[in-house]
Amino acid sequence: MADSKIPDILVQKGRPGKTEGRNVNMPLETGSTMVFDTMAEFEAARNARYQSGTIYYGRYGNRAVYALEEALCALDGAESCVLASSGVAAITCTLMALVKSGDHLLVADNIYGNTRNFCETLLAGQGVEVTFFDPMAGAGAADLFRPNTRALMFEAPGSGTFEVPDIPAVAAACKAAGVVSVIDATWPTPIFCRPLALGVDVVVASGSKYLSGHSDAMIGTITGTGNVLQAVRKTVMTVGDKSGGQEVLLSLRGLRTLKMRMEHVDRAGRDIALWLGAQDRTLRVLHPAFESCPGHEFWRRDFTGASGLFGVLFRETSDAAVTRFVDGLAHFGIGVSWGGYESLVLPVTPKRTASRWDVEGHLVRFSIGFDDLDTLKDDLAAALPLLEP
Ligand SMILES: *Cc1c(COP(=O)(O)O)cnc(C)c1O
Repeated sequence: MADSKIPDILVQKGRPGKTEGRNVNMPLETGSTMVFDTMAEFEAARNARYQSGTIYYGRYGNRAVYALEEALCALDGAESCVLASSGVAAITCTLMALVKSGDHLLVADNIYGNTRNFCETLLAGQGVEVTFFDPMAGAGAADLFRPNTRALMFEAPGSGTFEVPDIPAVAAACKAAGVVSVIDATWPTPIFCRPLALGVDVVVASGSKYLSGHSDAMIGTITGTGNVLQAVRKTVMTVGDKSGGQEVLLSLRGLRTLKMRMEHVDRAGRDIALWLGAQDRTLRVLHPAFESCPGHEFWRRDFTGASGLFGVLFRETSDAAVTRFVDGLAHFGIGVSWGGYESLVLPVTPKRTASRWDVEGHLVRFSIGFDDLDTLKDDLAAALPLLEP
């Protein structure tokens, strides 16, 4: 199945088996306790509770959970997958599984804000040494390895700033030093990038974005190879984190149309980004598919498409004018998440502590959904004059 075509995986995986009835889709699994007829059956299940597929107790998983895990394994080309209650839970459980007090963790400086926050507060508070590094360091990240470096966490592209790292170079440097590499690949989804094939050990993603895809579910996904994923899985279970029954079903449903939706937002996002790039007020578009984006060459080499999330730097304006512009948009909602059918806008202020992000202008992030593109352009055209400082 590893080299199955993506559309076939999206249609065939994670569906009821022959013994589970004739429904096209998995049923909603509710409940908590699973019951056994004999102690021998019960003990066999308990001993295997950390393995995907085991029916033991609701917190560890059920048939729908395992169906989604199986489908995500096929999509990412992973040996193993575990679900979490949110993207953040997927990230924090993964990092907790990999580092302990006295260990050193490297984190890319353009990492998702809540990942940074977790590393700076909870992990550092537990005695983990955390160093942020220049996300474009590539193989040079190895210069920061210490004898106690256990893991490296990065993201493609950078949250808010959209630089694309040299994924294979970072992964290879980690592999050579026995450092576990973890990537947040929420932006491309497995449709446009498969980091495990590029040498990365663990992929985390927020399924609240494109996987579920309709802004109606929160879920996190973790995929990777055997031993490391087994440790992560145990941590998710030990913490008591779990994905909800409805969220799992909504993600299975989202999976069926993931490729079509990604192809749409790829086209729509580039169209709007190109249009915005041609406006007087625009200084620069930050979109991995555009040559002006740092790491564009890596995007071309390692990705097969772009999602609908990108940034725009506006010139000679003020925070107050940016607020007026964003408030003046009628068709764009203001919100932190993205990846649904609705278009969104958000001013962002990147935080850097280890590298410089010294670009000019005011950064605004856009997520393009399924709206009519002329409607969006009319909306933007009407609001752009509000950027006048
Ligand atoms: C949204 C997001 C997360 C967090 O996901 P939640 O499901 O909201 O917890 C993590 N990483 C990236 C890149 C995100 O955009």
